[in-house]
Amino acid sequence: MHQPAILERVPVAPAFIAALRERFGDRVQTGEAICRQHGTSEAHFDPVLPDAVVFARSTEEVVALVRMCVAAGVPVVPFGAGTSIEGNALPVRGGVSLDLSQMTEIVAVHAEDFDCTVQAGVRREELNVHLRDTGLFFPIDPGANATLGGMAATRASGTNAVRYGTMREAVLSLTVVTPQGEVIRTARRARKSAAGYDLTRLYVGSEGTLGVITEVTLRLHPIPETISAAVCGFETLQGAVDTVVQSIQLGVPLARVEILDDVQIRACNTWSKLDLPEVTTLFFEFHGSPAGVAEQVETVGQLAAANGGGNFQWASTQEDRSKLWKARHEAYYAAVNLRPGAIGWATDVCVPISRLPECITETKVDLAAASVPGTIVGHVGDGNFHVIFSIDPNAPEELAEVEALNARIVARALAMDGTCTGEHGVGLGKQEWLAEELGEGTVEVMRLLKRALDPQDLFNPGKIFAL
Ligand SMILES: Cc1cc2nc3c(=O)[nH]c(=O)nc-3n(C[C@H](O)[C@H](O)[C@H](O)COP(=O)(O)OP(=O)(O)OC[C@H]3O[C@@H](n4cnc5c(N)ncnc54)[C@H](O)[C@@H]3O)c2cc1C
Repeated sequence: MHQPAILERVPVAPAFIAALRERFGDRVQTGEAICRQHGTSEAHFDPVLPDAVVFARSTEEVVALVRMCVAAGVPVVPFGAGTSIEGNALPVRGGVSLDLSQMTEIVAVHAEDFDCTVQAGVRREELNVHLRDTGLFFPIDPGANATLGGMAATRASGTNAVRYGTMREAVLSLTVVTPQGEVIRTARRARKSAAGYDLTRLYVGSEGTLGVITEVTLRLHPIPETISAAVCGFETLQGAVDTVVQSIQLGVPLARVEILDDVQIRACNTWSKLDLPEVTTLFFEFHGSPAGVAEQVETVGQLAAANGGGNFQWASTQEDRSKLWKARHEAYYAAVNLRPGAIGWATDVCVPISRLPECITETKVDLAAASVPGTIVGHVGDGNFHVIFSIDPNAPEELAEVEALNARIVARALAMDGTCTGEHGVGLGKQEWLAEELGEGTVEVMRLLKRALDPQDLFNPGKIFAL
């Protein structure tokens, strides 16, 4: 496992824990199991345990907790569903893991305005179940059933982003408890506004380092009249990527287009009981009117055929579509479990779409020479893809090899004017790349903001950059 950069822990006084218990009762937990659950990430980082876990149920409770922690100098690390994979929610300086998963109220749905407001602990799947009868849906889909607060905090996206954007576009407004223990709302529900600094965008992607998001107002979309999904295998990786790039360049409004290379398809066939040919494959979803979808399918079908693609295999029923996308969403676990007992490491670069074919094919050459199994899977319509490595936890040389491969993949993406993280955030894992990507001056402005808003460095300390 990878040892995260642990910061010096401030000892938390027993009297502080006692005061928490007085205020929050049995929603303060200090047991080993619950602390371990909140101090363990989905990925390759060693666990780091908080001193206590506190479950909040309202904005007022978050205010109370924040004020107690700030008065005592105790770090606060917001925690949603714990599905982030760059060590984002690990409490590297100890303190309180503030679990928002019990904040599950859907505060308001304004169907006529295509928006809703939810508490931060609502999960995206539950929101969509709630919305079903309104004819609307919330499209952002990171695969994992994450909380909307966590998704806002990591500026998440996923399979639908090529058509519907990321959390940057989806969030209209946030309610935030600041490090001073004040409640602010960053915007109203208007679709556009030029009112002052855009604090919504500042908090989206701030990874819990600038305060705690307690409510999120989100844009919604009409459920499309027609949804069709298909898979298509390709003779070459290059042919698959070229099909995607040409479709985007022609303006085809693809709703989802995901690439899975031959090794990933093999892993999915085993894990999700599929029987797809073990070649590089694109998973498509088309949304629109029946005529619009037919036109998209026609164009993409022609491009696929010209690039060495086979016939489309259609998943026309809801059940078939669910099976297909469930397999895609479980691709991470399928890849990690290529070797029983392995741990995962997912890279996350994103490049301008015209550079994608080059970036992905050069990465495949790296993987062919590697001794650790790695699959390519990604949201190629955005220029975003992951390599998922399956690492033997008892072989430090494998971790070192993957670290070097990750560095190579990131360096390649940066050289193409891309980014070290398309969607997972910086957390612990991407810190060394931030200044290289944006420049030291830009990171220094981020530090100035952090010091101004959180002068004691108590909110998710040690994340995104060193202060
Ligand atoms: C199998 C798998 C597939 C994934 N696929 C994708 C994908 O396609 N796209 C993608 O974007 N991500 C993906 N992820 C990563 C993950 O789902 C996202 O990062 C998600 O947004 C994390 O949400 P969470 O509720 O689990 O947050 P957590 O992991 O609990 O927290 C993430 C970060 O946000 C902060 N935070 C959480 N809640 C709040 C809050 N209310 N206020 C302030 N800060 C907060 C935490 O401190 C931490 O820094 C995947 C993960 C897995 C395991």
